[in-house]
Amino acid sequence: MPVKHRVLVTGAGGFIGHHLVRRLKAEGCWVRGVDIKGPEYEATAADELELLDLRKYDNCLLATRGGIEQVYNLAADMGGIGYITASRADISRNNILINAQMLEASRLNAVSRFLFSSSACVYAQSKQRGADVTPLREEDAYPADPEAGYGWEKLFTEELCRYYWQDYRFDTRIVRFHNVYGPLGTYEGGKEKAPAAISRKVALALDGGEIDIWGDGEQTRSFMYVDDCVEGLLRLMASDYRDPLNLGTDRLISINELVDLVSEIGGKRLTKRHDLSKPQGVRGRNSDNNRLRQTLGWEPSVSLEEGLNVTYRWIENELRHAGRLSNILTARSAD
Ligand code: NAD
Repeated sequence: MPVKHRVLVTGAGGFIGHHLVRRLKAEGCWVRGVDIKGPEYEATAADELELLDLRKYDNCLLATRGGIEQVYNLAADMGGIGYITASRADISRNNILINAQMLEASRLNAVSRFLFSSSACVYAQSKQRGADVTPLREEDAYPADPEAGYGWEKLFTEELCRYYWQDYRFDTRIVRFHNVYGPLGTYEGGKEKAPAAISRKVALALDGGEIDIWGDGEQTRSFMYVDDCVEGLLRLMASDYRDPLNLGTDRLISINELVDLVSEIGGKRLTKRHDLSKPQGVRGRNSDNNRLRQTLGWEPSVSLEEGLNVTYRWIENELRHAGRLSNILTARSAD
């Protein structure tokens, strides 16, 4: 792929941004990363990493200075369902500030292409009431009824990108991610997502012990490995497609099944304890990949078994290095 550009990745200290920077460098790009924090688990591969708060407009101008050609705008205040349900005002305000000002600063600094990372949380909630959900096509975001806070803010920024094209011919790309997972992502502290949280819980559990699950575990999702996510991002940026595009897998799996898969990878037999007081988000959500296939001639291909295996081993290793696995005996061996 001929992408030897000067590129800015915002959110470069975060999960997807960190992986994207590494890939862009491997493709021969010059990369500036910007974030309010550095990556937690590994040094960045970026040519420069600047710590800037992108809620401030002057910082957005700084971030996009110096002949940047492409912007991957991944910076966002976000987390798993617990976090996005608990902090709607902060998330909405922070992300609207980042997105609106990054768009304007990129336009004024003559960036030639701007990619906005949207989310499957933009989809109408009324279309996600059953666990056996029909995969969501891009047009299913309307009539608008997205996830409160985070989903509204993403949907509004999608619109803003369209207006920038209409009014200024400022060239934008809009990707709707469906649950990205992989190594080097947050796995505890409240911002982690289901695959990382489950991997941590399985790694820390006693064989024969119990595992806590949010909701009844029959809620369904699809999950995409981070390498596929990065590949899709590069392909979308290189394409001439300006409308929102799903980027995810279309293999639907319940949270209970996900727990079974991770437990098998971890070699543990665990009893599920369901906590119905915890938020579980929409009942079912899957990606319709028809437009993705048509537009990019490609779709994610890393299997959940393969991707979870790498993710689980990485989290297990992190916990071992932190000295948190050394005392774990199996429930049976402790008897
Ligand atoms: P992440 O939280 O790991 O990365 C986001 C980064 O943005 C963080 O490093 C954070 O420090 C940074 N950031 C937050 N506020 C900032 C500010 N004011 N100034 C500068 N940087 C700031 O999340 P991620 O999983 O890598 O997600 C990247 C993008 O993809 C986000 O826009 C997110 O909404 C979107 N997305 C992710 C998923 C997923 O499953 N991971 C799903 C849907 C959408």
